[in-house]
Amino acid sequence: MDPNHLFFTHFRDGAIASRIEGQHRGALPSVIVIGAGISGLAAARSLYDASFKVTVLESRDRLGGRIHTDFSFGCPVDMGASWLHGVCNENPLAPLIRGLGLSLYRTSGDNSVLYDHDLESYMLFNIDGKQVPQQMVIEVGDTFKKILEETGKVRDEHTEDISVSQAISIVLDRHPDLRQQGLAHEVLQWFICRMEAWFAADADMISLKTWDQASANLS
Ligand SMILES: Cc1cc2nc3c(=O)[nH]c(=O)nc-3n(C[C@H](O)[C@H](O)[C@H](O)COP(=O)(O)OP(=O)(O)OC[C@H]3O[C@@H](n4cnc5c(N)ncnc54)[C@H](O)[C@@H]3O)c2cc1C
Repeated sequence: MDPNHLFFTHFRDGAIASRIEGQHRGALPSVIVIGAGISGLAAARSLYDASFKVTVLESRDRLGGRIHTDFSFGCPVDMGASWLHGVCNENPLAPLIRGLGLSLYRTSGDNSVLYDHDLESYMLFNIDGKQVPQQMVIEVGDTFKKILEETGKVRDEHTEDISVSQAISIVLDRHPDLRQQGLAHEVLQWFICRMEAWFAADADMISLKTWDQASANLS
C-alpha cells in the first residue's frame, strides 16, 4: 500500500481511522474495514487495489494489532508475532517482506536457549531461583502430551464445543495417574500457560474443537 494514500485521523480516545484514498476515487464503492491488524490491513490493501474507497477503523492508538514491536529497552522486543513460518514457500508475507527489504534471522534448535521449542533447551526455575531438574521438565512435558491426547477422546464424545481447560479437568478426573504433585504440578501449569501464551487466550477460552486445526509449514 502506498503510504501516501493512507490518511490517519486520531480520535480523542486514541482510536485511529484511516482513509486510503486515490485520485478520482470519490464515486467508487466504499468499504469500512474494522481493525488495523494484519488481516484488516491486508483486506484494505486488496480492496484498495480492486478500486474500492477504503476506510480502516482501529480502536487502539496504533496499527498492527497482535504484531507489535516494543523499543523501550533500546532494542526491538516483539510483544506478539515474531516468527515467519514457511518463509521459503507459501507464507504470503515472505514476498512482501522481501520487497520491503526487511532483515530475517533463522532460528533453529542449536543456537538459542530461550527462544526455541524443544523441551531439552528449556530452563525452568522455581520460586527460589533454583533450576527445575531437566528430567522433570521432560517427563511432565510427556504427561502433558498424554493429557492433550486424551482431550482428543473427550472432543470425540462431545458434539458441543467445550474449552481446553474443561477437557483437561475431565481427563484428570478420569486418569488420576496423570495428575502431578508439588513442583511437577507447577511444571504442568507452566505447560498449560505456554499453550495459553501460544494462543494469547486463557485455557478456558481456547476451543477444544479447533485449537489444533491450524496448519503451518515450519520449514
Ligand atoms: C504473543 C503472540 C505471539 C505470536 N507469535 C506469532 C508468530 O511468531 N508468528 C505468527 O505467524 N503469528 C504469531 N502470532 C499470531 C499473530 O500475531 C496473529 O495471528 C495475527 O497478528 C492476527 O492478526 P489479525 O489482524 O487477524 O488480528 P489482530 O492483530 O488481533 O488485529 C485486530 C485489530 O482489530 C482491532 N479491533 C478489534 N475490534 C475492534 C473494533 N470493534 N473496532 C476497531 N478496532 C477493533 C484491534 O485493536 C486490533 O488492532 C502471535 C500472537 C501472539 C499474541
